Amino acid sequence: MLTDQKQMRCGGCGGETFKVFTADRSVRLVVQCQGCMSTSFIEPQPAKLQIEWGEGDGRITVF
Ligand SMILES: [Zn+2]
Repeated sequence: MLTDQKQMRCGGCGGETFKVFTADRSVRLVVQCQGCMSTSFIEPQPAKLQIEWGEGDGRITVF
C-alpha cells in the first residue's frame, strides 16, 4: 500500500488506469491512459555534478 505517495492521473481525462510499455527497450517507458488513450513518455535524465561550498575559503573550480 502506497500511503504517502501522490497518485498521478491523466492530464486529459483525469483517468487513473494506465498501461505501461517499453518505448525504447531500455531508455524510456510510455504510459497509455486507458480512458482517452493519451500517452506519456517517462525518461530518466542524466545525473549532473554540482559543486557546493565546503570548509575553508576555496572550492574546486574549472580554470
Ligand atoms: Zn486520459
